Amino acid sequence: MNIPFNKPFLTGNETNYIKEAVASGKISGNGEFTKKCQHFFEEKYGFKKCLLTTSCTDALEMAAMLCNIQAGDEVIVPSYTFVSTALAFVRAGAKIVFADSMTNNPNMDAEKIESLITERTKVIIPMHYAGIACDMDTIMDIADKHNLLVVEDAAQAIDSYYKKKPLGSIGHLSAFSFHETKNIISGEGGMLVINDDKFIRRAEILWEKGTNRAEFFRGEVNKYGWVDIGSSFLPSEVIAAFLWAQLEQLEQIQAKRIKLWNTYHELLAPIAEAGAFSLPNIPEYATNNAHMFYLVCPNLEERTRLISTLKSEGILAVFHYLSLHSSPYYQNKHDGRTLPNCDHYADCLVRLPLFYELEEKDVIKICDTIKNVYN
Ligand SMILES: *Cc1c(COP(=O)(O)O)cnc(C)c1O
Repeated sequence: MNIPFNKPFLTGNETNYIKEAVASGKISGNGEFTKKCQHFFEEKYGFKKCLLTTSCTDALEMAAMLCNIQAGDEVIVPSYTFVSTALAFVRAGAKIVFADSMTNNPNMDAEKIESLITERTKVIIPMHYAGIACDMDTIMDIADKHNLLVVEDAAQAIDSYYKKKPLGSIGHLSAFSFHETKNIISGEGGMLVINDDKFIRRAEILWEKGTNRAEFFRGEVNKYGWVDIGSSFLPSEVIAAFLWAQLEQLEQIQAKRIKLWNTYHELLAPIAEAGAFSLPNIPEYATNNAHMFYLVCPNLEERTRLISTLKSEGILAVFHYLSLHSSPYYQNKHDGRTLPNCDHYADCLVRLPLFYELEEKDVIKICDTIKNVYN
């Protein structure tokens, strides 16, 4: 029996809604399904304004434009994250100042951010690893004090909370992903969340290729034209129709993922207590949206041994990010600081299979296999 690392889950209604979208004759973007998805998020999570995008990367690029990043501006980004968190701002000319992770959690260490701030700093970009919140009160306080913007990379953080506030609702701007590896998917897809009113008008313009088309269709102006920069950031109705089928079952998807996550946690806790590895740390201020189940091994050799043993049993477990500060693209641009906690997660973190159609018996088998590694 083989257990893959991930398998995209289809609710069954995706193709029905896609047929509906196609039959409606309106297949380009910003139609009925797009509006339904955006309203869903605005209602359920209190996000001020949502715009679907073709990816989270696109949403982050829009955020960089809205923050008005100019060449030489500095942005503070975790080094333990996906490329896009930094790339979107690099494209706008920013210098990336990488922040280290915490010792007990891959998220950026909020206590150390202030020492990275200079007069060129413009934005802090917390990324909620595994959907577990960064220390947002500390981050927002620092941003207020130094007059900085905060963009949440909430790619993994759907339906997760910080002190009862939904992730994605706290920063000035936030970006979500619906890539097939996330909890809620549309193949490729994403969303920009605008929580600060002053960005809403310009966000709509950037979204629609630098035109004020959205205002025109609301009847607020009597002609539309080229008013700013922008790009083609909005997805087609076909993508939004797919996403709508997923959103209808968000609660069911989350409940199943959380159940599997809890089974992992329960079965692996005794081995973790014996010192073989550590389990995810969920701070008191954070919830768990079961985006990911990961272990942190004591060193690279132990992790390699664990991954290869699981593989020999047909179970695909995978490591995660390589430190961005020492990536081939950025190492010569990095300021040379060492980021030991980030490097530790790059070497020692391993993710176990977690997807909707995984069964309890699979989780039990995976945990038994892990137990045997440490006997
Ligand atoms: C998945 C992911 C992205 C990129 O999402 P896309 O929708 O593929 O562009 C960005 N940041 C993080 C943290 C991610 O996990």
